[in-house]
Amino acid sequence: MAQQYRITLLPGDGIGPEIMNVAVDVLKVVGKKFDIDFTFQEAPVGGAAIDLTGEPLPADSLEMCRNSDAVLLAAIGGYKWDHLPPNQRPEAGLLGLRAGLELFANLRPAKIIPQLIDASTLKREVVEGVDILVVRELTGGIYFGKPRGIFASETGEKRGVNTMVYSESEIDRIAHVAFEAARKRGSKLCSVDKANVLDVSQLWRSRITELAKEYPDVELSHLYVDNAAMQLVRAPKQFDTIVTGNLFGDILSDAAAMLTGSIGMLPSASLGSSGLGVFEPVHGSAPDIAGEDKANPLAQVLSAAMMLRYGLNQPAAADYIENGVSQVLQNGLRTGDIMSSGMSLLGCRAMGDALIKTLEEVKQ
Ligand code: NAD
Repeated sequence: MAQQYRITLLPGDGIGPEIMNVAVDVLKVVGKKFDIDFTFQEAPVGGAAIDLTGEPLPADSLEMCRNSDAVLLAAIGGYKWDHLPPNQRPEAGLLGLRAGLELFANLRPAKIIPQLIDASTLKREVVEGVDILVVRELTGGIYFGKPRGIFASETGEKRGVNTMVYSESEIDRIAHVAFEAARKRGSKLCSVDKANVLDVSQLWRSRITELAKEYPDVELSHLYVDNAAMQLVRAPKQFDTIVTGNLFGDILSDAAAMLTGSIGMLPSASLGSSGLGVFEPVHGSAPDIAGEDKANPLAQVLSAAMMLRYGLNQPAAADYIENGVSQVLQNGLRTGDIMSSGMSLLGCRAMGDALIKTLEEVKQ
């Protein structure tokens, strides 16, 4: 019997609907090839939801996400809603989604696509073959720790305070996600902390070391964050999977992503405690090119591949999509953002059609 999945689609704003259409068409091909029965249900978020209901994340949209096996999100935001106060803007919908689904683990791959290697600002020999996954804790650490605020001391001088705090259970759950993810890749995990200075990092390191006993097949190492930042640009090929806290992960995942040099190609995943995940491109809604059929749909398509790999445990289907993307690039096809001389320029829809044709030609 066909495996059945209910997928909630959140196309959002700007280029969101254009790139989402391509990803859905790709998933339909995957469904046929792998005997997977996808049921798609669509809900408004961001500016689209504000226009419809006055709220960036209507309760019905959140409920629909909860009642699904995975959520595929495109992007939200645009000039039209920029004048609204922060808690009513499209971005508030994204924060509401993260909180509402308790998305505590953010997975950001940085994989060099050989055909796009010259988009990287680093030397070819440094980045060739780079394939890193950064697992970042998303709902704890210094961004949420208390006390926080700006306080006046007795002398009247103001002090700004944030608190970096992690409990054992918060560390354990992100560690399990990271060890499991490492297992699906090269089985090497590097935990990044600042245990030479921070007590919170000492607890982090001891918990990760303890939990490693449950994953004897995964090779664990530890790095201080300053050294990790250096190593990422000096010799990035040494990394397979990296796990780190919220603040360090925010910085290192952006640095790792830029090893690849092309924002239109980067997917991401955020996983929740219930096992439900939200899969989305790293880029935003690109309002400057919305509706012009110029968007690169490949980060959205690769987000659908991440959904299959990390959300639905369908690694063969994920490989199939990723190989199809490599093939269209190998065939010299490019959207404007990754265009280089000698290549053929396509719009969003035509890139989607070319990918689908390539996928349909692959023999199972
Ligand atoms: P952006 O990522 O939308 O765009 C930055 C630049 O990259 C633009 O020139 C854009 O045309 C280009 N670009 C982005 N994605 C592309 C693609 N798939 N194909 C071709 N070109 C692409 O970032 P921004 O301009 O800073 O933000 C625009 C809006 O997106 C804002 O409202 C912002 O709040 C929102 N945003 C949303 C998310 C999200 O939904 N997760 C993330 C970042 C920004």
